[in-house]
Amino acid sequence: MIKFALAGNPNCGKTTLFNALTGATAHVGNWPGVTVDKREGVYKKCAEPIAVLDLPGIYSLSPYTPEEVIARNYILDEKPDLIVNIVDATNLERNLYLTTQLMEIDVPMVVALNMMDAVEKNGDKIDAKTLEDKLAVPVVAISALKGTGIKELMNRAYAASKRKREGISVLGSSALSKPISDLTAALAKKQVDSPLFHAVKLVENDEIEIKNHPEEYKLVREYKSGFSDDVFGDDFEAIVADERYKYITKHFAQAFVRKDGEKVRLTKSDKADKVLTHRIWGIPIFLAIMFVVFHLTFSENFLFLAKALPEGWVSLEGTWAEGLFGSADGIASPGVILANLLNLITGSISGAVSGAMQGAAAEWATGLVCDGILGGLFAVLSFLPQILVLFMFFSILEDSGYMARVAFILDRIFRKFGLSGRAFMPMIMGFGCSIPAMINTRTLADEKERTATVRVIPFFSCGAKLPILTAIAGGIVQFFHVSNADAITYAMYIVGIVTAIVTVILMRSTTMRGETPPFIMELPSYHAPQAKALFIHLWDKLKHFVKKAFTIILVSTILIWFLSHFSFGWNFLPDEQMESSILAGLGKLVQPLFTPLGFGSQLGATGWVFVVAAITGLIAKENVIATFGVLAACLGFAYDGDADPNGVLAATIMIQATGITIPALISFIAFNMTTIPCFAAVATAKAELDKRSFKWTLVFWLVTSYTVGTIIYLVGSWWWTVFIFLAMIAAAIGGIIVYNKKRDAKKLSTEAPIK
Ligand code: GDP
Ligand code: MG
Repeated sequence: MIKFALAGNPNCGKTTLFNALTGATAHVGNWPGVTVDKREGVYKKCAEPIAVLDLPGIYSLSPYTPEEVIARNYILDEKPDLIVNIVDATNLERNLYLTTQLMEIDVPMVVALNMMDAVEKNGDKIDAKTLEDKLAVPVVAISALKGTGIKELMNRAYAASKRKREGISVLGSSALSKPISDLTAALAKKQVDSPLFHAVKLVENDEIEIKNHPEEYKLVREYKSGFSDDVFGDDFEAIVADERYKYITKHFAQAFVRKDGEKVRLTKSDKADKVLTHRIWGIPIFLAIMFVVFHLTFSENFLFLAKALPEGWVSLEGTWAEGLFGSADGIASPGVILANLLNLITGSISGAVSGAMQGAAAEWATGLVCDGILGGLFAVLSFLPQILVLFMFFSILEDSGYMARVAFILDRIFRKFGLSGRAFMPMIMGFGCSIPAMINTRTLADEKERTATVRVIPFFSCGAKLPILTAIAGGIVQFFHVSNADAITYAMYIVGIVTAIVTVILMRSTTMRGETPPFIMELPSYHAPQAKALFIHLWDKLKHFVKKAFTIILVSTILIWFLSHFSFGWNFLPDEQMESSILAGLGKLVQPLFTPLGFGSQLGATGWVFVVAAITGLIAKENVIATFGVLAACLGFAYDGDADPNGVLAATIMIQATGITIPALISFIAFNMTTIPCFAAVATAKAELDKRSFKWTLVFWLVTSYTVGTIIYLVGSWWWTVFIFLAMIAAAIGGIIVYNKKRDAKKLSTEAPIK
């Protein structure tokens, strides 16, 4: 099959065009070794099917970012039959910079002038014919969004792909034309493909080329010794870039005709930015938008109507609709309604299956299928609707160009912690679910910054950890008659955020050191997001979630089920006898380890329940409270789960039975919040990080949670221990400062002689 590659700047509309071309045939994977999406599909409307590949968005072909290296290597090594260079026509000059580089490669090419609908709407004009003459490749005006011009584009592309094409350069009359043509001749003689491209890159001192063609590079050095430009001296890379822009302004920019010959004009985008990226209002506006998004996704009381409505105004009580739309607190938000819908479906499946198996199959088999397999799967699945809804809102914000602005406004604050503004997005997503949040870290350019961010994402307490908070906080209020539950919940969120900030600063000044990459980013103009792209995006996420997380979830729920329902002698145990299970045995074994956290040996013989609940939380955090329910029965209490939807009663029973203290309960919550997250999140972290940092990430989670739990328990139980911790923290900070000073000094002394 012949291959076309789509190349262009970020946000020029590549993916939109790709989706329009390939439709349902698209397949998304990763480029080997890096977490950059690779999209492939087939276009079927030409004489023969054409494989289409969406290259990562790039501004140039220099090897500075993974995206650039991928795109460049693909074009040079895989030699597509044609490059479709997509150009954002509303931003012509900047986009043509890449075009002038692609032109130098000996591969057939067409230019797709995209976003022509927007250009026309502004009242501007672009003369495609003039451009075509200057560029010497077909230029077709299209709108990927509206679907206009695409057929013509592909027909002309198909024809062009059948002809050979030799690279041409806009640098032909530049100051550096002599070395470029000499090098091109030398490389051509050696049968190097695309000699012109390699020659220009050699002149630019491109590190890859220097390595591959050391002989020829000598020529550049020779030439350099006798050369000096007024502005750039002998910086050939800068000279080449400057020549390209000059050429573009002089020859190509004329093709762009502004309405009424206006020069500078505030576009709608610029006007919107005056408000949305305002120095003072930018952040409050953003927080308000986030509030709305989370409210739409997670709120049980969507319209704030719970108390406002007169009694019985809409009475769903007792009807089937109550389970779907209503709750005791009001009308549910769209996200909750979807989740309810799914729960109704999965609930009836579970019911049907257990009904069919009861009596007909062995007790252990019923337990395995209903509690082990279906229970575990459905528990995780129940989060999918809200994850998708959240993702949908974020995609809309991202697609519209707003998220780029948010990263920009927050960059100043984040820099203080050693992160760039882009790290913000994944963190806020973490409050919904760590999995999409971790995937979202792909927008971070620096690998160490990315690793640090992935590690702290679970500290932004996700939706599944909320039940732990509500149940235990409720239990505390019930049993000890203190404080109010909301205050505890709120404080725990703060504990998570503070832990994240502290550990990020620690990592960025020790093992994850590195310059925070400067925030260079073109702010794309605002676009109305499109439904089709959104749908494809969500479908990708859905597949990713279901595939990656569920394989591992299924295996682990089955495993835990066996461990909790079989004794060491391999006898089946019903729920009430879990105390003799392998899992309980393991729990008792590790229980002493948690003594410093307050839920270890001091709790005595029944204390293992907390440890076991935490272990089951490794599969899905909802399990912690679900396990409380099961264990309440083991502890010899009559417990009816249906009468206790929030788990408050189960928590109260556990408190009563074990004699655990308030500081230990808070420590238990904090431990669960900051320790190794659920299996699905762990699997995601594994996929997103390299092997080594993944292993250390597990250690990091364990150490952090243990430390945070210990500090909370000890300080909460004996306030004066706070001084010990303060002294330790001071010593640690001092140590790091001294170490870093020494390190910097050493670095300077080894670097100095080179200059
Ligand atoms: P990519 O980064 O190159 O893959 O760009 P995308 O395909 O994600 O598009 C970036 C933004 O431009 C999206 O919001 C699209 O809806 C928008 N867009 C793409 N093509 C067009 C077009 O032809 N006209 C207009 N007005 N917007 C477009
Ligand atoms: Mg894209």
